[in-house]
Amino acid sequence: MPNHDQDRSNVSDRPAAIVIGGGIIGCAAALELIKAGFACTVLDQGALMQEASTAAAGMLGAQVETHEPGPFYKLCRHSQELYRPWTEELEELTGITAEYVAEGILRVALDEEDEAQLRSRLSWMRGAQWLSAEQIRAAEPMLAPEVRGGLMLERDHHIMPTALAGALRAALVKLGCRIREWTPAYRLLQHQGRIAGVQTAEGPLYADVTVLAAGAWAPVLTEPLGLKLPVFPVKGQCISLRPEAPLNRSTLFAKSCYIVPKRDGTALIGATQLEVGFDKRTDAEAVAKLYRKACALLPAMRDAAFVRTWAGLRPGSRDGLPFIGTWPEAPGLIFAAGHYRNGILLAPGTGLLVKQLALGEQPALDLTAFAPGRAAGAAGVSG
Ligand SMILES: Cc1cc2nc3c(=O)[nH]c(=O)nc-3n(C[C@H](O)[C@H](O)[C@H](O)COP(=O)(O)OP(=O)(O)OC[C@H]3O[C@@H](n4cnc5c(N)ncnc54)[C@H](O)[C@@H]3O)c2cc1C
Repeated sequence: MPNHDQDRSNVSDRPAAIVIGGGIIGCAAALELIKAGFACTVLDQGALMQEASTAAAGMLGAQVETHEPGPFYKLCRHSQELYRPWTEELEELTGITAEYVAEGILRVALDEEDEAQLRSRLSWMRGAQWLSAEQIRAAEPMLAPEVRGGLMLERDHHIMPTALAGALRAALVKLGCRIREWTPAYRLLQHQGRIAGVQTAEGPLYADVTVLAAGAWAPVLTEPLGLKLPVFPVKGQCISLRPEAPLNRSTLFAKSCYIVPKRDGTALIGATQLEVGFDKRTDAEAVAKLYRKACALLPAMRDAAFVRTWAGLRPGSRDGLPFIGTWPEAPGLIFAAGHYRNGILLAPGTGLLVKQLALGEQPALDLTAFAPGRAAGAAGVSG
């Protein structure tokens, strides 16, 4: 690596790490890297935690989001188990709560086909319980009569992404992370066959380990290396309403709509799903659609006050799986991108895996299914 001390993200004798992207995945990775002894710099082309990571609903839906057993379910469950202690550690460090709510998700069925699909999960999903129409109304009395039953997923909790953003930033500052906002990484630097850092407008920054956590923008940086990472923006729009009193205790989740009752008394209703490029505009049609769907589940939502609407860009991937691991063609680079609908849930698990890869340790999970080179047909590396 070129010996430009002034260009290194670290001038101490600690190993240096650069994290590209200050969303929840980059921040979670930086947190683990600092705790493991790296001198860490997080670069963001904008401000920290202002893209998908604060547009999210904050569900930790390992069970509601999984349709079959396998590596993705394992990854989700692994991160879900880490979540509560992770937010408690952040709160202890910073005094900021992530507004963790441990009420479970009720995945409701409105038609026969949906019911059959949901019931089929009972054979392999531990901790899920089928509730009949009567049982479900006893649990959530405000539900519409059309709901025919549902899966109670007690382990699927939620947090408030904007609150968690504050805790993550404060924790990184407190632990001595260098945060460089409005500083895009223009390209990855190579030296002697390794990725050696990034080029920024202010010059090169060198590091022993570079983490690619650039969300929907990640492919821009891998393309010059010859890797077309199939990650792309999937726009999601949400609305927030304030009923006079909370209408549901558990999160209600139907085929194309969910209602998350937040600690502040608002109901977060999401989300649309559209591939329209890097477009974050909100529109009245989506607001109306989400409102109608929420009222179809909870008719009393009609009287709620409108609070706000917003949109964010999920880092989608064609097979729905994230890219976590290394790529033989680019040693020194760790991928942590493409977390699609589940980046909030997967943050602590991904942070830990990035740290293990950076230290050359055996990752806690088999990462073959998430190998960065899988789409290119290249052999992926899991650790
Ligand atoms: C409406 C909606 C609802 C969602 N609900 C949930 C949910 O309930 N539960 C859940 O688990 N997930 C949910 N998600 C998904 C979740 O938000 C994402 O998977 C997650 O935020 C991805 O995090 P990230 O850090 O990879 O990306 P981002 O948060 O988008 O962060 C990427 C960062 O990289 C920066 N960047 C990009 N390129 C560069 C560069 N060249 N140089 C420097 N910086 C760069 C960007 O500025 C950005 O800050 C939801 C998403 C949306 C949109």
